[in-house]
Amino acid sequence: MTIDNDIDLLKNNSPIIRCIYCGKSTDEGIKLNVSDIFPLSLSNEKLKNKNVCSIEHNSNFSKYFESCVINSLAIVRNHLNIKNHGNKYPPYYINYIIKGEKYPILITKPQDFLKDRMIPSEDKKSFFGTLESFRKRKDFKEGNEILFDINNEEIVSESLIEVDIYLTRKMKRMIAKIAYEWHCKLENINNRYSKYDSIINYITKEQLGDEPERVRLITEPLIYDFLRRYLPLGNHLLLRINKHNKVFVYICLFGIAIYEVELLDNQRSKDLEFELRELSQAKNIKHFKERFNPSEISIENEEMINIATFFSMDLKLNSAPQNKDFIFKFLYQNTKDLLDRYYVTKLSLQRFVEDYELNKGKELLLNYDGIVEKHFWCLLKVVYFLGENNLDIAAYDMKTIEEIILEQHAHNNFSLSCFKKILQKDKHMVLKINRGAKIILQIND
Ligand SMILES: [Zn+2]
Repeated sequence: MTIDNDIDLLKNNSPIIRCIYCGKSTDEGIKLNVSDIFPLSLSNEKLKNKNVCSIEHNSNFSKYFESCVINSLAIVRNHLNIKNHGNKYPPYYINYIIKGEKYPILITKPQDFLKDRMIPSEDKKSFFGTLESFRKRKDFKEGNEILFDINNEEIVSESLIEVDIYLTRKMKRMIAKIAYEWHCKLENINNRYSKYDSIINYITKEQLGDEPERVRLITEPLIYDFLRRYLPLGNHLLLRINKHNKVFVYICLFGIAIYEVELLDNQRSKDLEFELRELSQAKNIKHFKERFNPSEISIENEEMINIATFFSMDLKLNSAPQNKDFIFKFLYQNTKDLLDRYYVTKLSLQRFVEDYELNKGKELLLNYDGIVEKHFWCLLKVVYFLGENNLDIAAYDMKTIEEIILEQHAHNNFSLSCFKKILQKDKHMVLKINRGAKIILQIND
């Protein structure tokens, strides 16, 4: 069903809500439910509306393209503490390199690796695991093992970054869907109108025919630089240019990829490219807002302590992408930039304490030379600093924690190796970490 008459546009405020894809209302047998414009599994914040039919244009979209995109971004989502529908952190693949052999494994947190499991090597010729787990196997023969002391030998971990997903039709359909549904929310559009036929077609069809491409991946580095000054990496940003009968939506996904979506027909012009270039040259946020007057929404994870450089993750990435195209390298570098940072948020601190059970006063077996990524040490540093403080445990909020960390950092400015030395000498380490962990679990909002 398509409505051509512009008068119908004026009826937007009528109480009958129809699906913005098929124009059907509940009278015609469909169910309208509150659905996520921005997929929930890609963000800790919600952007919702109620103008999409529940099966054909909501759950089927998830089945046809969204879930594939979401799964492909597991490592990024895990890094940003975004949970799955089942309230679990998404698992991702990582290679552990032990004595020159690669052991790929699906994990949700680095210490999963140590759990009682045997990991086959990439060539399936050898296994890595604890001696006890091997001895439980009937086919295990003593003498066939090579012993490896994980506390004294270095294990390199290598995360696998796939960037092809950003260029797929599935990703572009998802981006177009977000753009169209967000625009409809802003304009209070609750029906299908013919002026949007092309974009609806773009979203709902699996394969494109002769139709023009509607979603363009932006590769101008200046634009990325600008948006990163505006919003930290890992967040999303939606911008819209809606003037002179042109509607363009820009979607910045995790700061890794920025897309331009053309919502109406025959719009692309030199002017617009010029505007984009201008956007990147805007000197500050005020200037940017005045000039472009965009509608914007930032879907931030939550309040962050901005000490990103302090938390370099030092992940070794899989060898550079096979595809040598500029665009692959570009997306790969953006992903690496994001994974190399570790943002300290209430969520990330509490997850860290729970993952490692730091609040339970157990002895900590620390491998000072390897095994866990650098972010483990960085977060442990925060827990330890907090444990050294004399404030009442219940008196902390994120602002106080930020002040303490920044002050400690400014005073000591010690590297991770210095921190490890301090820990090794400190007889009260466990007590301090335990206290720090308890503070973290009680952070006030
Ligand atoms: Zn529908």
